[in-house]
Amino acid sequence: MNLIAEKIKKLNLPYKFQENVSFKKSSWFGVEGVCDVVFKIDNCDDLSKLIQSLPKEIPIFAIGVTSNLLIRENFHGIIIKPRFNDLKIFNENEIEVGSSVLDINLANFAAENHIANFEFFNTIPGTIGGAIAMNSGCYGGEIANLLISAEGVNKLTGEIRKFDRSEIHFEYRHNPLKDWMWTKAILKGKKVQNNSEIYERMKKFYDQRVASQPKNCKTGGSTFCNPNGDKAWELIDKVGLRGYRIGGAHFSNHHCNFIINDDNAVAEDIIQLIELAEKKIFDTLNIRMKREIVIL
Ligand SMILES: Cc1cc2nc3c(=O)[nH]c(=O)nc-3n(C[C@H](O)[C@H](O)[C@H](O)COP(=O)(O)OP(=O)(O)OC[C@H]3O[C@@H](n4cnc5c(N)ncnc54)[C@H](O)[C@@H]3O)c2cc1C
Repeated sequence: MNLIAEKIKKLNLPYKFQENVSFKKSSWFGVEGVCDVVFKIDNCDDLSKLIQSLPKEIPIFAIGVTSNLLIRENFHGIIIKPRFNDLKIFNENEIEVGSSVLDINLANFAAENHIANFEFFNTIPGTIGGAIAMNSGCYGGEIANLLISAEGVNKLTGEIRKFDRSEIHFEYRHNPLKDWMWTKAILKGKKVQNNSEIYERMKKFYDQRVASQPKNCKTGGSTFCNPNGDKAWELIDKVGLRGYRIGGAHFSNHHCNFIINDDNAVAEDIIQLIELAEKKIFDTLNIRMKREIVIL
């Protein structure tokens, strides 16, 4: 019996939801996580009203396309999938982008419109909402460097608010504002005459990515952030975990900061691998690892 769905039904809300949603086929990791209730919301006011109507004791999470997310089998809560797909230009070099736009679509849109500095997004498989939440980046770029402002809805109170870049104290792969569901952002690049160099950089990053990371596999990307001065993959390698397997998952031989589900893994296999690496790296090298993957 899905107690959360039953509770929500009694509220008679004007918003449709799905219940007992399996993420096995639709998530990057491809493990069987089932969510009690999933809402898809495409309007800021509706998102705010929905949050205000939901029972406070049930945890709520926004998700993008799960490229950094592991959903446990025994997860209980409400998932909201924001559906904000705006993509428009103003002031020549500024782009307003909805939080569910894919990073790669933003990179292409910027390139078509002769706006540079968005090239790195071409190789990150998430959404802009996920990028704001994680301060995503690669190849010397990160979203914090482009952001002018971001708008969101507070997941505890339903407040709608716009934040200037200076109010979000981004760090490497970290945004401290965890109670906000991002709906849109304004990002600023550099207007250029000729966009062929933009396309060249996009291709260069893509080629680098293909050479350095496993492709076409079920993964959540980097398991750990790089600790100061170290590379997470080197530490995993040093403690002998390259290729190490638990159940249906293993640390990739190709890029060992990636965990791959190649044999019907369950979330617990992946969690055990993460905990094992944390313990071994701390016991042997006295380094505390910080997880990049988010576990619900
Ligand atoms: C093959 C591969 C390569 C990758 N390479 C990189 C890389 O080079 N650089 C990098 O930074 N990341 C990389 N990642 C990780 C991932 O793509 C990014 O973190 C991405 O930004 C996550 O976006 P998402 O939409 O998939 O978010 P999800 O995975 O769905 O969610 C991740 C987190 O963001 C939160 N979130 C998502 N949307 C919102 C929203 N609208 N409002 C508030 N919170 C939200 C979720 O609650 C969760 O905490 C890689 C992943 C894979 C699988």
